[in-house]
Amino acid sequence: MKLRIVYDNEAKEGLESDWGFACLLEAEKSILFDTGASAEILSRNMHQLGLKKEDIEIIALSHEHWDHIGGLDAVLHQNVTVYVPRSFTRRTKKSIGEKAAEVVEVSGPADIVPGVHTTGELRAGAGIKEQSLVLDTKEGVGEGVVVLTGCAHPGLENILEAAKRFGELYGVIGGFHGFDNLKSLEKLKMVIPCHCTVHKEEIRRRYSEKAVWCGAGVVIEI
Ligand SMILES: [Zn+2]
Ligand SMILES: [Zn+2]
Repeated sequence: MKLRIVYDNEAKEGLESDWGFACLLEAEKSILFDTGASAEILSRNMHQLGLKKEDIEIIALSHEHWDHIGGLDAVLHQNVTVYVPRSFTRRTKKSIGEKAAEVVEVSGPADIVPGVHTTGELRAGAGIKEQSLVLDTKEGVGEGVVVLTGCAHPGLENILEAAKRFGELYGVIGGFHGFDNLKSLEKLKMVIPCHCTVHKEEIRRRYSEKAVWCGAGVVIEI
């Protein structure tokens, strides 16, 4: 499947960068993972990329932080199904429900469409609960699964561990936050640090052969 970065702290020329994260998965259905912080910026980037909100069939939100759900107004419509961690506030779930076809509350691991799974909501200590997506790689790309994270607040290592139930780990993409056990990524074949990853430069240097640059406009084959 194709993964297109739509919103990120960095961007290709012609697109806007901003603190936040969103990407579009072209799987059996068209799935938007997170929405960035601003509906205006999300709209403009989508327009630049030739994407229309009506084409999005599913929205999956990683966690209830403004830089991941702030752009919702640009993409909600009456036919879209929205997957949210069950721990989202009732108020947020209600306001999404008013503008979407359905709100699906995620607690444990589950399949969203064939080839796209959720870890279910995970949490480290008293931190915020967050879901990550787990994507089956297609033949020709590699064998295994690629993990897609929002901010990785539950801890990247915990998320990767939880994702193993869906297959052998092939790669990881997204915001890694303060993750610093770089050595633990050695076995992966694809490492793409985006958004809030504190040690982005260090990861790219250390794993230059498998860490491509991330920014709005980047397309990754999975
Ligand atoms: Zn966050
Ligand atoms: Zn974030």
